[in-house]
Amino acid sequence: MTTTTTFNNNQVTFQQLNKCHRIIDDATGKAFYLVESEHDNLVEYKVTYSNHKFSCTCPCGQQGFASVRNASGYCKHVRWAVAAAAEDKKEVLARRIAEANDVESSPEYQAEYRAYCQEQEDIKAGYEQFDTCVPMPM
Ligand SMILES: [Zn+2]
Repeated sequence: MTTTTTFNNNQVTFQQLNKCHRIIDDATGKAFYLVESEHDNLVEYKVTYSNHKFSCTCPCGQQGFASVRNASGYCKHVRWAVAAAAEDKKEVLARRIAEANDVESSPEYQAEYRAYCQEQEDIKAGYEQFDTCVPMPM
């Protein structure tokens, strides 16, 4: 099953991205985001992604995003986290490519790169606009 949820990351400001903190859950190894409340930076909401759906611990998210009027159908914390995740992925990919400059033609690197792209498949189901499998640098 694919989702048609779309996010317009261009609407998310740098300040909003800075409110998003990527955390790896020690127990599951999965990433989630803690997003600071817009009005109180001592309050953080947890944004997670599983079973092709996002959830958020804010009041709106706890009600299944019933009050959301945005086209994405999700609260702003989810939208910010998605934008932050896109930025984080770009960074990870850029770093891998930079590290691989010397070895980019090695079979080990290419195997790792393919594994990385494979790993993104599940995420891509929900994060449709994340074009994480960029062409190999030549
Ligand atoms: Zn929320």
